[in-house]
Amino acid sequence: MAGHDIFRLQDVTVHYGQRTALDGITAHIPCGALVALVGPNGAGKSTLLRALLGWLPLTRGEIRLGDKHPRHLHPRLAYLPQRPEVDWDFPISVREVVAQGRWPSLGLFGRFTAAERERVDRALEELDLTALAGEQIRRLSGGQQQRMFLARAVAQGADIFLLDEPFAGLDLAASAELIHLLQRWLAQGRTVVAAVHDLALARAHFSHALLLDTRLVAAGPAAETLSDANIDLAYHRRMPVLGVRP
Ligand code: ADP
Repeated sequence: MAGHDIFRLQDVTVHYGQRTALDGITAHIPCGALVALVGPNGAGKSTLLRALLGWLPLTRGEIRLGDKHPRHLHPRLAYLPQRPEVDWDFPISVREVVAQGRWPSLGLFGRFTAAERERVDRALEELDLTALAGEQIRRLSGGQQQRMFLARAVAQGADIFLLDEPFAGLDLAASAELIHLLQRWLAQGRTVVAAVHDLALARAHFSHALLLDTRLVAAGPAAETLSDANIDLAYHRRMPVLGVRP
């Protein structure tokens, strides 16, 4: 399936007014990979995710997957914002939120067929939410809420998931569960690009990384890309001065 596609970023540059958020990013992001976006606050990680979605006007450059502009990749692309702006008191069940993934495909006057319902069931099952399907969404834990949005993306038919800081605010058990899920998706050939703060986590569990500081500092396999020297460069830390002890 999508395993051989590559996101090609060529000279991607984004401004917000006068502020440069991304400057001349040229990189390839392979599909069928687990890609960590790493860099200090304000490095442009969220901006890059939105650019990959095709939502942002680029000042310069272009992004393509195969010959396609990202705007034409629905339903393959799904995005999870950092803090979903959700009214948690809204009277809606987990199943209804996951079913929203099917709405864009139903068309005007579209009806939920048995096949549509089955897709929703499968997504709930895949994210281990079947037992919680009838619950009001406010009753879920942070990790379960996140799984609900991942299930909605799966119901949509996505195979490329863009996640903005998915580990933020999760406890250890929920983080471990999410890592396990992402590894399973990786084995299935799905693609995940995620903004990640925890360097050790990115090194240990992601296959690839892009290290950003408005410009691209390094890109490639996670362990090499996130070397101490590269991290120092991206975070503007001074290299340790060696051999100067008296
Ligand atoms: P990160 O996700 O790495 O923290 P962002 O992509 O959020 O970085 O931000 C990159 C830069 O762009 C920062 O300097 C930030 O202040 C600025 N920025 C982000 N979003 C906006 C916006 N909507 N309007 C103006 N500036 C923004």
